[in-house]
Amino acid sequence: MIHRAVYPGSFDPVTYGHIDIIKRASQQFDEVIVGVLTNSKKTPLFSTEERVNILREVTKSIPNVKIKSFEGLSVNFVRECNAQVIIRGLRAITDFEYELSMAQTNRILAPDIDTMFLITSLEYAYLSSTTVKEVAAYDASIEQFVPPVVSEALRKKLESRH
Ligand code: ADP
Repeated sequence: MIHRAVYPGSFDPVTYGHIDIIKRASQQFDEVIVGVLTNSKKTPLFSTEERVNILREVTKSIPNVKIKSFEGLSVNFVRECNAQVIIRGLRAITDFEYELSMAQTNRILAPDIDTMFLITSLEYAYLSSTTVKEVAAYDASIEQFVPPVVSEALRKKLESRH
């Protein structure tokens, strides 16, 4: 059996915090599929295609990572992928309540699928896509937070909005 995990999220845009989780998960599983959610309640800054392309670019050196987009419930996507595990990252206690209720709901919907949490590395504990977008909007440097391809994409996106 291929030991496969899905890491679902918005990734709008991907940060070094997400990449850290992807790398660490890729060391624990035969294959990790990063699932880019298309129908989030939040209106994303980047289109699904842009988010997928950026993720492909920044993970291209990790052979057992694949990027796909999906709509609807994570557990259905996990089944489609023939995966057994959902990966989520935990940054702080503030993530916990939401993640707990989501994991418990998913377990009721799909008892055969388990959620596993990776605790963020300390240097990324404060990092979120929202913060990165805010900082970028004020023209401040975001190179500590995201790879160059993301800061470039953000710069272009924000310029096109002016
Ligand atoms: P969602 O909209 O599903 O929360 P995100 O793209 O914001 O999607 O996050 C996807 C997952 O990655 C979540 O489990 C989130 O807690 C985790 N995550 C986000 N930022 C970081 C970070 N800096 N370090 C570790 N995990 C993170």
